[in-house]
This record gives sequence, structure tokens and C-alpha cells, in this order.
Amino acid sequence: MASARNALVIALGLACVAALVLINIPDRSPDTDLAERASQFAAALSADAPYRPPTVREGKDALSGLIPLLTGGKNTQSYVQTLTPLGFTLTDGRDTVSGRHFLLAATEPDVERGWGMYIADYGVAPRRVIEVPHPNFDLDTEQVGVQLYQALPGSAVLIAGAHRRAAGGLADVAHNANSLFNLVADALARKGLPQVQLHGYEDRSLPGTGVVVSAGATEHTSLHEQIADRVAAGGTVVCRAWRESCGNLEGTTNVQGQDADSIGAVFAHIESDSEIRSDPALRAQLVAALVGALNSSIP
Ligand SMILES: [Zn+2]
Repeated sequence: MASARNALVIALGLACVAALVLINIPDRSPDTDLAERASQFAAALSADAPYRPPTVREGKDALSGLIPLLTGGKNTQSYVQTLTPLGFTLTDGRDTVSGRHFLLAATEPDVERGWGMYIADYGVAPRRVIEVPHPNFDLDTEQVGVQLYQALPGSAVLIAGAHRRAAGGLADVAHNANSLFNLVADALARKGLPQVQLHGYEDRSLPGTGVVVSAGATEHTSLHEQIADRVAAGGTVVCRAWRESCGNLEGTTNVQGQDADSIGAVFAHIESDSEIRSDPALRAQLVAALVGALNSSIP
């Protein structure tokens, strides 16, 4: 009798342990502060690194992995198979700031195939694309970009994988239509997603102005007006490129903007001065203005 009771106790105990194991399935996603991860990536990029754009075949292969990854796909193993031979490493993680599950694909810094860092909300269809084309040149723009991602669920982030001066400037993805960054931006724009592209300028380029809002080569929209109004409401002097000249910071030769114009997509080119980018409080204010504008003017 005692042994039967003991057996029952043991069985119940085992059942409880099994239940606990089932409930507490370990989250294998490493906790990562994406802003910190992006900053480390940016800081490792140098102007004298080698760089080459992808061949047509490599570009197609990369898109076949990156576009599903960036648009809510959940087939992580397939993206690993497609992207690893192209030099990408995939990370499946949880962002410590937003708490959101992300997928990240990135090439190594300062390699010939420095084709970028791409971040997506796992399994979530994106509503906008956030772009950082000049990491470690337009300093801290990756911070603005990732903080925007952290505040806006449903964002795809594109960060260039090389310093814009690398390979004699060939690595400037904002002016190289053959860059993988541009191929990805084009594919996402064709899906109807608006792009917000983040740049930075030296204060002497446009003294007295904190932020330049432009549509690049596209027609300006309510999104651009919303961004400008919200940034200005915080006390920052804003130059609206559709109304006035902004010291050659309008991004009219930007190839993502020209591409967006050719397909009728929305493209916002945002330049901010170095104080706004480097001061955490001012940067947070810029991010908040962009979040407000993106939330209110895009369905
Ligand atoms: Zn720039």
C-alpha cells in the first residue's frame, strides 16, 4: 500500500516536473540591445576597407533571403541557408529595449562583401523602412535608426555594411544603385512601403538649422510636412526642402529617392546636425517627432 502511494507521489511529481519543463521552454533568442549592436557594427567600419557591390546573381540570391526575412517571414532556417554563403550571419533575438523578437542578418565589418545589417520584426509585416546609409560617417545615425525601430513595431531597418568612403566611394550606398542596400530598398518600396532615410551633417554646412526634411527626388507628402512640423514644435529650426534651399542637403541625387520617385513610393530624407545626433535627449526628441509623424500620416 505504502509503495503504491509512493509510486503515485513519484508519478505526480514527475508530471509536475514535465509540466514545468513544458511551460518554461527556454527562449533561445539571446537578449540584445539592438542600438548597442548597431553602434558596434557602425564603429567597426573604416574608410580604407575593401568593398565591392554584389554581382547580379549575388544580388538576386541575397534578395531571395532578405526580402522574406524583412517582410514577416518565419522561415529562419531557409534564410540562413540562402544568406550564409553570401557572408551574412543571422541572429534570432529579443531586443532588450522594445522587448520585441527580431531577426537580424549582417555581414562582417570591413570585408569586401560589406553588404549591410538588416533588422526585421520576426513574423510581422512591416509598415515602413528605416534606412541608415552612412554609418560611421553620419555619426550616430544608426542610433536614430534603431531607436526609431524600437519605438515602432513593424519596422524594417537597413544599415549600410561599409563606410561610404570605402573603395573610393563605391561603398556610398545612397549613390550606388548596384549596392545591395539599394536593391533591398527598391524591392521594399515596390511593396508600397515608405522609406525614412537618416543622414547627418556638420553644423557648419547649414549654420542655425537643426534638421533638414526633404523628399529627395520625390514629391513631398503629408509625411514630410508632419515630420517638419513635429520637429519644429520641439524648438528645432527646420529647413523644408520643398519650400526653400537647404544648403545642398536635400538629397536630390540620392538613388533611393530617385528610385522611389520612379515607382511612386514615399521617401523622406532627414538630415540632422551633429548636436542633435550626439545628445541623447535631443536625439530622443527627433525620434519622437519621427514616430509621431509616421504613426499619424501612414495608414
Ligand atoms: Zn549621409
